[in-house]
Amino acid sequence: MRVKCILCDKIDKLDDNLLEAKRLRNRPIHTYTCPSCKERITEKTEQRIASGKFHVYRSGKQKELLT
Ligand SMILES: [Zn+2]
Repeated sequence: MRVKCILCDKIDKLDDNLLEAKRLRNRPIHTYTCPSCKERITEKTEQRIASGKFHVYRSGKQKELLT
């Protein structure tokens, strides 16, 4: 499937069997972010987590890691 990064509008191709592709298909709103944008977001997110005022609820796994 073809996906568009919501941040920089870059078009990427995802293998339909990838977990990421399945996740995007199961959601009405596609929120794909390309690897470079994702890296930027992750950096910011980690900074906020480090400040102790931000919780990530994106997936059960990540939540477990934080608690
Ligand atoms: Zn991007």
